[in-house]
Amino acid sequence: MFAQRLAQVAPSATLKVAAEAERLRRAGYSVVDFSAGEPDFPTPEHVKGAGKAAIDANFTRYTVVAGIPELREAVCKRYKALYDVDVTPAEVLMTVGGKQALFNVALALFDQGDQVITHAPYWPTIPEQVKLVGAEPVIVPTRSDDGFALDATAVIRAITPKTKAIILNSPCNPTGALIPEATVAAIADEAKKRGLWIVVDLCYEQLIYDPAPHNLAKVLLDRHRDRTVLAGSASKAYAMTGWRCGWTIAPKEVTSALNTIQGQTTSNITSITQKAALEALTAEQTAVGRMRDEYRVRRDNIHAWLTANPGIKCVKPNGAFYLFPDISGLLSPDGLKTSAEFAQQLLEKEYVVVTPGEAFDAPGYLRISYATSMDQLREGATRILRFAEAIQPAKVS
Ligand code: PMP
Repeated sequence: MFAQRLAQVAPSATLKVAAEAERLRRAGYSVVDFSAGEPDFPTPEHVKGAGKAAIDANFTRYTVVAGIPELREAVCKRYKALYDVDVTPAEVLMTVGGKQALFNVALALFDQGDQVITHAPYWPTIPEQVKLVGAEPVIVPTRSDDGFALDATAVIRAITPKTKAIILNSPCNPTGALIPEATVAAIADEAKKRGLWIVVDLCYEQLIYDPAPHNLAKVLLDRHRDRTVLAGSASKAYAMTGWRCGWTIAPKEVTSALNTIQGQTTSNITSITQKAALEALTAEQTAVGRMRDEYRVRRDNIHAWLTANPGIKCVKPNGAFYLFPDISGLLSPDGLKTSAEFAQQLLEKEYVVVTPGEAFDAPGYLRISYATSMDQLREGATRILRFAEAIQPAKVS
């Protein structure tokens, strides 16, 4: 009945967890939801104002597929300010979120039978999009023992004659890990030698909490500009998930190919969103800093609270807004056996929603989003610790 490609693709596990939380909430339970993949902050007032003004000015028609020139110029200026790189509007395409940015790339660059290397734990959309276009994801694992550091040698070792591209995500969802500049440089040098694309998902680029060199844009554009695609998003930095605004930065001829794909699928992103994003990118960036500061405090608190239980081991993440604890110390053959079971029981007993590591190719872990209020974090941590205490005796006996 359905197209073959559907058999290759899994539905979003993270959206499934969110739906389950919503069902319980509607049934009247006091749910603590740590599944959110989006900021809990409202879109900043000045950005909303620009969207409203766009409607009132009847800026409600088609625009060029790539997005209005002043918005693409604004992306160039933002990357100049953030990374001191020079890109031109002809190298920028505005997309329906970072998700479409990456899917345009998959459609334009990957063929049936190609291999595309990425790293785990991963945001599931990355390998699923690769599969959707008939290519094969090749996964390089990272481990919590060394802070989920990506090993450039392991990535290079995974290259075969079928490899077409390497997709990196930094800061990473779900681990919050950053990929160091030196690692990206080593991967880029090899990719250049072998003629491979490098795609970097920078969707959380503005959410880095402890200063660390992370100028991946410059590292890549300096070394491997012809075959680099940067994918960005307004969703997380500006609390604009629902507006749907992302972009790619890629060489002109690549941008033109992406433009062709988008022109035959969705066309331009919403005109109103473009005006709001223009305001977000060009106005004072104070709201970004304020949100980042708040996330940092939340991260520090939830990390300290949960790691009070020795069965919960957790690297302190440096970016994004997720904690990704290893809870294998709380699992046992006669108790809860998997993180999926743990998450299900936690939901049924304590009404706390977390995403099990299985969704990210990382069994034994949980993803806990701290894009929620401090009160919810405190309440959720109390419930998780109570739940962990309750299951631990079973393990000891
Ligand atoms: N990349 C990563 C790693 C993400 O987690 C997300 C959102 N969950 C995206 C890209 C895309 O977000 P959006 O489409 O809202 O820009």
